[in-house]
Amino acid sequence: MTVGVMISRRRFHVSGTVQGVGFRPFVYRLATSMSLSGFVENTPAGVIIEVEGAEGDLAAFERRLDGDRPALVSVLSVASDVIDPVGGSAFEIRASSVSGARAAFVLPDVATCDACLADVCDSSNRRYRYPFTNCTHCGPRFSIIASLPYDRANTSMKKFAMCPDCRAEYDDPGDRRFHAQPNACPACGPQLALWDADGAVVCERDDALMAAVDAIRAGRIVGLKGLGGFQLLVDAANGDAVAELRRRKHREEKPFAIMVASLDTADRLCDVGDVERALLASPASPIVLLERHDRVTHDVADAVSPRNPYLGVMLPYTPLHHLLMRELGGAVVATSGNLSDEPICVDEREAVTRLRGIADAFLVHDRPIVRAMDDSVVRVVCGREMVVRRARGYAPMPVLLEDDGATVLCVGAHQKNTVALAKGRQVFVGQHIGDLVTEQAVAAFDGSVGDLPRLYDADVDVVACDLHPDYLSTRRAEAMDAELIRVQHHHAHVASCMGEHGLTGRVLGVSWDGTGYGEDGTVWGGEFLLCDRGEFERVAHWRTFGLPGGDAASHEPRRSAIGLLHALMGDAVWDCDDLPTVKAFAETELHVVRQALERGLNCPVTSSVGRLFDAVASLVGLRQRVAHEGHAAMELEFAAMRGRTDDAYPVSAGGGDPAVIDWAGLIEGIMADVRRGRAVEETARKFHNTLVEAILMVAACYNQEKVVLSGGCFQNRLLLESAIDRLKEAGFEPYWHQQVPTNDGGVSLGQAVVARARLKERA
Ligand code: ZN
Ligand code: ZN
Ligand code: FE
Repeated sequence: MTVGVMISRRRFHVSGTVQGVGFRPFVYRLATSMSLSGFVENTPAGVIIEVEGAEGDLAAFERRLDGDRPALVSVLSVASDVIDPVGGSAFEIRASSVSGARAAFVLPDVATCDACLADVCDSSNRRYRYPFTNCTHCGPRFSIIASLPYDRANTSMKKFAMCPDCRAEYDDPGDRRFHAQPNACPACGPQLALWDADGAVVCERDDALMAAVDAIRAGRIVGLKGLGGFQLLVDAANGDAVAELRRRKHREEKPFAIMVASLDTADRLCDVGDVERALLASPASPIVLLERHDRVTHDVADAVSPRNPYLGVMLPYTPLHHLLMRELGGAVVATSGNLSDEPICVDEREAVTRLRGIADAFLVHDRPIVRAMDDSVVRVVCGREMVVRRARGYAPMPVLLEDDGATVLCVGAHQKNTVALAKGRQVFVGQHIGDLVTEQAVAAFDGSVGDLPRLYDADVDVVACDLHPDYLSTRRAEAMDAELIRVQHHHAHVASCMGEHGLTGRVLGVSWDGTGYGEDGTVWGGEFLLCDRGEFERVAHWRTFGLPGGDAASHEPRRSAIGLLHALMGDAVWDCDDLPTVKAFAETELHVVRQALERGLNCPVTSSVGRLFDAVASLVGLRQRVAHEGHAAMELEFAAMRGRTDDAYPVSAGGGDPAVIDWAGLIEGIMADVRRGRAVEETARKFHNTLVEAILMVAACYNQEKVVLSGGCFQNRLLLESAIDRLKEAGFEPYWHQQVPTNDGGVSLGQAVVARARLKERA
C-alpha cells in the first residue's frame, strides 16, 4: 500500500439471507481482489466481515458488497463500525461460530442454477445425469434442515459422507460448492430407485429414471419423491391417463398443475408476460397461473384444467425434474402426492401405503425430507406477483415488522392453515399446511407449531389464535402454556395485508371471504372495517341471509341462493319455480329447506360475499353444487371475463351502525336478467361491477386514503384488478396481498400483526 494513505479497519454485521447462498466466497473473492485483509465469519446471528485497507478502498468494498452480491443473497441490514486496524495481509474465511442468538434466516429451497444444470448435462462432468447436484446457489434447504445453524450435520444429508472430491470442493473458498451443505455426487450422495406399486425395487439409478420415463410415456401414473414431497406425474397430453388420475385421486374438477420442459412449451400453451416469465424462471420456481391461448394444442388434454381459462405451469426445479422433462418433452401433470385435501406425502414407505391405488410406480430416493413442502402457487395482478399458496421456495422467509417485541406464535385459521412465528422484527410464515380436517393435516399442523420455535430458538411468550371457539387451531392454542390473544378473522386478514406493506396508521379494510367467526357470534364474510393494527370497528357489512343446512351450504350454491331469495321475498320464493335455483331442488328437498328457513333451524345467518358469489352462480344457472371451495365463484369469474359491459346493478347502503349494504336491487336485477334470457357472461360481469361499486360507495363514505383489500374473495383477479383500478381513479390508495395469500393462508401473519400491536399499546 502507498505510504501516506490512511489505513482503517471496518467491521460489518450483515443479516438477512446470507448463509448457504455463496455469500462468504463472494466476500472472500471481493476482498482478495481488492487486496484488503481481514476475515468473514458465519455466526448464528448473521455474517461478520472485517476488512482493513485504504479508506477509499473500504468505501468501494462497501459499495460492491451491496451492488455485486450473488442473486440469492438478500440483505436485511448492514451495520458497520470503524475499529482499530490490526495489520496482517491475508483475507480468510473463518470456521462457523456456533454461539450466540440465532438471527440468521432459514433459506427456502432453491431451484437448480444454470451452472449446476450445465454440470448435469455435460457428459464429461463427474455429475453427468446426477439428479441430486446442487451448490451454494441452489438446491434443497428448508426441506432438509432439522435445526440451525445450517450445517450438514443438522440436515438430512448427514447420513451421506462426502467423497474426497466433494470434500475438496466443500473446503475450497474459491469453489461454487464451498460449504454447500447438501453437496453430493454419484460416488457419495443419494441415489434413485424405481419401486413398483407395492414398494418392491424394480431398478436403480439412471435405469430407474428411464423406467419412470417409459411408464409416464405409456400413460401410467408415477409417484415421484421430489424436493418437498411426493408429486403424481402423468402425461398431460394423454386424456385417458389424466382422467384416470382424477378418478383415482377423487378429484373431479379442480385443475391440475403441469410441469413443462421449457419456457418455449409454456409460450406455446399460454400468454406469458414479462413478470410471469421471470417468476417461472425464478429461484423459487413456483406454479404460475397463466392465461391459456384460445387455440387448440395437443400438449395438454382438456381434463387437466377443464372449463378454466388458466393453467398452473411450472418449470423443472431440481436436476431430477430437468432430467425427466428432457426425456419427456412437452408437459406432464405434476400434482401433490396426496388424497384430496391431505398434506403432501414425504416418506417413500408411507407413500406406498397412502398412495396405494393411485400410483402405478414410485420413483424414489434415499435423501430424507424433513418437512413437507407443497409447490407454491402465484399469479400476477396489476403487474405484480401475488402469492396464492405459499410453500416451497417461499417458506419460511420472513415478513419484516417495524418494531421489535414479544415472541408470538400464531396458529392461523382452520382452512389453508399456516403457522407463523413473530420473533424480533421478523414474522416467519411457515409453509401451507391445508385444511385442518384430516389426521395428516393435524399432524402437520402440530409439527409446524413445534418446528418454528425450535428452529429459531424462540421462547414463546404469547400465542395468537382466531376468535372461533371451535377451530382446532384455537383449541390447540388454548392448551398451550402462554398468554392467549384472540384475533377476529377479518381483522386478521386486513392486518396481514397491512403488515406486508408496512401500513401503521388507519385504513379502510375490505375483508371478504367465505366464512369467519364474527364478534357477535354470526358468520361474517362481507366486512368493511375501519381499523388500525390493534383494533377495528365494523363500519359496514353486506346484508345477511340464512344458510339452510349450515355447512352443507358451502358445498351447494343453491342453498345460499334459496336463503338469499327467502330473505328478499319471504314465502313468495316457493312460487319462483322458473328460477334455476328453485328447479335445482327436488320436491322433498325443498320441503326440508323451507322448514329450515321458516323455523331458523340449522340455518346460520351470514354476511359472506363468498356465499353471495355462490348464490349468484346458482341464480344464473351456472352451478348448483361444487366439487371444491371457490368452485362456483371461479366459474362466475370466468364467465364475467367474457362479458363486455360496464353496467352495474343498484346497491344501497342502509343507515345504522354498522351500515348494511343491501343486495336487494342487485338480486332483483339478476332475476330480471335471468328471466329475460340475458347471457350469463353479461350478468356475471354486471355482478362483478356491482361489487366494485359497493367498495367505492363505502370508501367514499369513510374517506380513508388507504383501502386494504383482503380475504379469499380477492383471489378473483377480475374483482381485484377492477377494484384496484376504480379505487385509484377515485383518488384512493389501494393495497392488496403480494407476499402472503389473501386467503386464510395469510391469517397467521395477520394474527402476529394484531397481537404485536395490542401488546405495544398495553406496554
Ligand atoms: Zn447450483
Ligand atoms: Zn461425492
Ligand atoms: Fe378468511
